[in-house]
Amino acid sequence: MKTLKFILALSLILAGTSCLFSKPVQASPRLVRIGIATGAQSGTVESEAPLRCTDAGGRTLSVGRRAILELSAGRMLVNGQAASLPLEFQGAQPIKWNGRPYRGSLSLFPYNNGFSVVNVLDVESYLRGVLKIEVNPAWPMEALKAQAVIARTYALRQAGRHGKEGFDLCSTTHCQAYRGMAAEDPKLDRAIAETRGIMVFYGSQLAHTYYFSDGAGWTADVSTVWGGRLPYLTCRPEPVPYETPHSRWKASLSQETLQKIMNALKAPVGTILEIRTAQKDSGNRVTLLEVRGTSGSATVKGHSFRMAAGSNLIRSTLFDVAFAGTGVPISPSAPVPLKAGEDPLIVLTRQGAFSSTELMDMLLHPEKREDYIKKALARGGDHQAPIPAAPALPAPARSFSGTGPAFFDFQGRGWGHGVGLSQWGAKALSENGWDYRAILGHYFPGTTLQVLR
Ligand SMILES: [Zn+2]
Repeated sequence: MKTLKFILALSLILAGTSCLFSKPVQASPRLVRIGIATGAQSGTVESEAPLRCTDAGGRTLSVGRRAILELSAGRMLVNGQAASLPLEFQGAQPIKWNGRPYRGSLSLFPYNNGFSVVNVLDVESYLRGVLKIEVNPAWPMEALKAQAVIARTYALRQAGRHGKEGFDLCSTTHCQAYRGMAAEDPKLDRAIAETRGIMVFYGSQLAHTYYFSDGAGWTADVSTVWGGRLPYLTCRPEPVPYETPHSRWKASLSQETLQKIMNALKAPVGTILEIRTAQKDSGNRVTLLEVRGTSGSATVKGHSFRMAAGSNLIRSTLFDVAFAGTGVPISPSAPVPLKAGEDPLIVLTRQGAFSSTELMDMLLHPEKREDYIKKALARGGDHQAPIPAAPALPAPARSFSGTGPAFFDFQGRGWGHGVGLSQWGAKALSENGWDYRAILGHYFPGTTLQVLR
C-alpha cells in the first residue's frame, strides 16, 4: 500500500514537472532595438532631465534637455552644431522623440537619404508599449498574461527581422505595433511583470505564437493557412463556447468584385457564376473554394481568397456562401440557337433566358442545371411563348437579369486567420477559471513555458 502511495505521489510530481511550465525566476532583461522612425529629415529629442548625447566619434555634445536635429545638405546638425551619425541619446528620465516618451535610449542611424530613430530598451519595457494595442486591459488578468507571454515570445523570435536596417523590430503592425510609454497601462504592466521573462518554447526553440481575434469554436491548422506543418498549430475545438461582437458577420460581394479578386489571385474565370466550398477542415473553415465563371473554373485556398477580398470584409474562412441575386429587374428574352462548342448555360444566362428563380435554383442545386437548360432551349425559337415573369423573391434576394451585377452573400463566424491563440477564446477560458499556463497549453499543445535567461 505504501509502495502504491509512493508511486502515485511520484507520478503526480512527474506529471507536474512535465506539464508545460518551469518556475519563473528573475531573468536578466534582454535588449531589443525598435525602429520608431525611418527616413527622417528632422526632429526633436528632449527629456525632463539633461540628455547625454554622443556622436560617432565618441564625442559628447552638450545639448541640455532638448536637441533639435536637422539634416542640412547631408550633414546632421544638433542644435545648429555639426555632428556625425550615429548619435546616441541617454537620460535619467524617459526620452521623447517628437513629443512621444520612450523608456531606454534613442539611437540615430543614417537611413536612405535621412536617418532612422531606434529605441533601445529591455524587452519587458518594450512589451509595456505593445500590449495595449493587442488586447483590452479590461479583460481578465489570466488572458492578459497569456497575451504578454506570446507577445514576448513573438518579439524575441522575430528579433533581427529588420537587421539590415539597423534595428530588430519596427513599430508598426508589420512586427508589433509599439507606441512607447503613451500605451502603458497599470493592469497590463502587472500582467507583464507577473510573467517576466516567460516564453513559449517547442523543444529548444521559441515557438511561433500566432494569435487572432475570435476562433468561433475552432482553431485552424497552419498548413491550411500559410503552409508548413507544426504539431502545436493544428485544427482544434475550443473547450468553452463564447459569444463575441464578431460571432456572426455577413458580406455581400458583387460579381465584378469577385472577378477582380480571382484576377488578383491569378485565377481568372471570367464573370462569376458559382462559388462552392470544395474542402472544409474539421472546424468547418473553408480550406478550398471552387469558383466557376464564364471562362472556366478555379480552386483557390480559402485563406488566399479571404486575404485577396480583404480580411476585414471576409473576416474568417468560417463561412457559407450563396448566390443572392441582383438589383436589376428581369426582362426575359427568347434565346437564340447555340453555336458549336458554346456552353449552353453561359450563353443562355447571358441572353437572359432564365428567370431569377431558375438561376438561384441552379446556383443552389447544380444538378438541376441540365433540366433548366433543356427547358430554356425548348422555349427557344418560339418567340410567342415568353418566359413567365419571375415570382416575387423573399428578401433579401433580388431579381437577376442575367446582365446586371449579381451578388453573392457570405455569412460567417469569428474573426482572424484561426492559427494559434484565439484572443476571445482565451478570455472565455480565463472567465471559466483557466490560468494563463493552461490557456497557452490548450492553444499551443505540446509546448512548454520557459524563462528567458
Ligand atoms: Zn516590421
